[in-house]
Amino acid sequence: MKLPNLSLLVKFQGDGFNCSNCGRMRPSTKYLLRNQDEVLSRFCLCDECQDKGYDVRFTPRSEVNDRRWSDDHERQERLLRKRRVTLSRKMETGVAEQVGGRRQPGSGNTSHAKGDVRKMDHWRLEHKFTDSLSGYRLLVADLAAVVSHANLVGEWPGLIVAFRKLKRDFVVIPYELFLWVVEILDADPTINRRSTAAKRQPTTSEGEPSGSD
Ligand SMILES: [Zn+2]
Repeated sequence: MKLPNLSLLVKFQGDGFNCSNCGRMRPSTKYLLRNQDEVLSRFCLCDECQDKGYDVRFTPRSEVNDRRWSDDHERQERLLRKRRVTLSRKMETGVAEQVGGRRQPGSGNTSHAKGDVRKMDHWRLEHKFTDSLSGYRLLVADLAAVVSHANLVGEWPGLIVAFRKLKRDFVVIPYELFLWVVEILDADPTINRRSTAAKRQPTTSEGEPSGSD
């Protein structure tokens, strides 16, 4: 967000102005609160009120300024949204490559998304990412969506949560699937769990652009 560039002009202006505090016409000093060339608020204080000390309070008001700020804000928001979508697609493509599937077309368009990544007859994956270092809020609605899409075609659902800044990804899968994985690993002593898993690179480490949040 663009920050306002505020300045306060203080200028002695002599006689002929009414003091904003006591209301009397006396030699006074004017105070102009400005955002660059635009006057947001003005105040006038006589010498006597100034000598006594006075807390000048400004209530900045400017429609033009408000509009400009909100336009800037919207532009920034649009840019951020676009960057997140681009980033999201890139990560989905990375996941698709790693699982040997493909990215679902139009998956960035959430209203029609039926899982972000699909490995035919195996997986329906939803990919989420966060730049937070402290956590990710898992929504039942997101889980329900990926489960229902997977159920339609008899595939396994998985919700990938990528902690981009931590460079760690996790997958939320149904408990019954987890038990199945446990069973498979137990049954096959040739699978060295940790070293096999360590060879997989997290999707978050792939060419992340900087400053996207
Ligand atoms: Zn005064």
